[in-house]
Amino acid sequence: MEEDIRRIGIMGGTFDPIHHGHLVAASEVADRFGLDEVVFVPTGQPWQKADEPVSPAEDRYLMTVIATASNPRFQVSRVDIDRSGPTYTVDTLRDLQAEYGPKVQLFFITGADALQRILSWKDLDEIFELAHFIGVTRPGFPLSDKHLPADTVSLIQVPAMSISSTDCRARVARGEPVWYLVPDGVVQYIAKRSLYQR
Ligand code: ATP
Ligand code: MG
Repeated sequence: MEEDIRRIGIMGGTFDPIHHGHLVAASEVADRFGLDEVVFVPTGQPWQKADEPVSPAEDRYLMTVIATASNPRFQVSRVDIDRSGPTYTVDTLRDLQAEYGPKVQLFFITGADALQRILSWKDLDEIFELAHFIGVTRPGFPLSDKHLPADTVSLIQVPAMSISSTDCRARVARGEPVWYLVPDGVVQYIAKRSLYQR
């Protein structure tokens, strides 16, 4: 019975751009939790970033596809970028659950910084019914589940990658390299589309 249930990780993010911190976290969680696949879900308009300029969804989607293409267990979903309006995780989980059907167990992967802010998320009770949460370590942020209901979250340590998309964008704007912070194909895509200039 149990073997029929597919274990699917979900890695939501703005991915502006996707970097090796995201990829290592997803890979590590997939290994530790025996996930069949991890679905990367670039946000549409992130409600937490409503006053910050965000790159076009199609660019963020394509960078995510480029970064994950070589891993057969990594997928990318358009559910959030194809839905209009701000992205709420509860909608992401509802849509993916509907798409995958009843024979899946969803695991939502989130870094320590995002986990700290989770109480402000819309429809939190339903979110916890739809997915088990996995909080991963991120340099500079304490990892804690004290603010969350028991048995909703697992906390794990992943290799420390002191990388953020904010820093990658600032580096490109200053003309500094992002080689080895993001996958090679993403470096080339950023240059080709002149992202983060100025
Ligand atoms: P920005 O600086 O634009 O906010 P970011 O680097 O935080 O970008 P996001 O797209 O906001 O990346 O993050 C998506 C998810 O990945 C979040 O759950 C975040 O906590 C997690 N994450 C991002 N970077 C890391 C990292 N270096 N280590 C572990 N988790 C990370
Ligand atoms: Mg972030």
